[in-house]
Amino acid sequence: MSKRRVVHNGVEVVEGWPERIEEAQTVLTVSIAGIDLPRIPYGDESEDWGAHKHPCRDCAVLKGQLHVPSCDVEQCPACGGQAIGCDCDRGIGQDQARKRARQVRPFSKHEQSIVGARRLFTWRHVGFAANGDATFEVENGSTMRLPFLTIGVEGPNLRGGAWLRVSDIVPGSSAVVRHDCYKDLLEPTEVEFFEVDDPTPATRDRFWEFKRLPKAL
Ligand SMILES: [Zn+2]
Ligand SMILES: [Zn+2]
Repeated sequence: MSKRRVVHNGVEVVEGWPERIEEAQTVLTVSIAGIDLPRIPYGDESEDWGAHKHPCRDCAVLKGQLHVPSCDVEQCPACGGQAIGCDCDRGIGQDQARKRARQVRPFSKHEQSIVGARRLFTWRHVGFAANGDATFEVENGSTMRLPFLTIGVEGPNLRGGAWLRVSDIVPGSSAVVRHDCYKDLLEPTEVEFFEVDDPTPATRDRFWEFKRLPKAL
């Protein structure tokens, strides 16, 4: 006899599955080569699985939730491959696990201040330059300078990031910044820009805010 099905997060799942989703949220790390690495929540995978649009197609968790173990979308935090398909838990990915463990070191005080500062930057897409670059008005409401401001760019078949050069915008001032946001791939009419979530120790590599500031102002 097949199991009863229930609707959870708008998705039909087998009875008992919502409880497994709850349980999965308590398993924060995976142990690889003796190192506990933070599991990658749905939506933080390097591949876009549509987390901003729908629950996980395999395990029905929502964006930001941890996948139910054995979900085939879950990404391995050591090798970046498919968690159920890679060999890391069999010891082969030891070096990668160590490397990853270093990358996910907690934020330093300085990095924390960068995370705080980037929240105080505001930006607005104002149009396009003659050469197709997108133009933004960026205001620095923080007390620091940042080298870049990371924003999200989306089009019909593409979801990526853009790194606005904001190093000249001193605290309390604003400026217009131009940036090529996939202009060869996206028409101005179909491109959209969005705020990205705060960086975490595991996602810091994608944020150029942590890069070195150019010396000269
Ligand atoms: Zn999943
Ligand atoms: Zn792996």
